[in-house]
Amino acid sequence: MSWRQRAFRRLAGIWRAIWAWRAPRIRPTAVADLPNEIEPMKLYLVGEEEAWQAAMLCPCGCQAIIQLSLIRRDSPHWRAWTEADGSASLSPSVWRKPTCGAHFWLRRGRIIWC
Ligand SMILES: [Zn+2]
Repeated sequence: MSWRQRAFRRLAGIWRAIWAWRAPRIRPTAVADLPNEIEPMKLYLVGEEEAWQAAMLCPCGCQAIIQLSLIRRDSPHWRAWTEADGSASLSPSVWRKPTCGAHFWLRRGRIIWC
């Protein structure tokens, strides 16, 4: 590998790291009721005192609203929490098998595709 290629690779790596760090993260938004207009980059936590539902736009771009139960006795149900940096995480992964097929994790405000 020439010094040019090495330098280029190094630069590309730094650029990717900066980009990843700068990229907006999905943040939790507490609401009493789910609004009609769902904004991207938000994980809505629906509930008066305790959130019983998490909702977000499907990250694949299909414009579908994903609604997930946070109620423990429901099956399936999810856990949503706020990271120290204010970003949102979800567990387990979301798999929209019968519709658009999107399968992803939401971790630290980022979509991790499966
Ligand atoms: Zn989708």
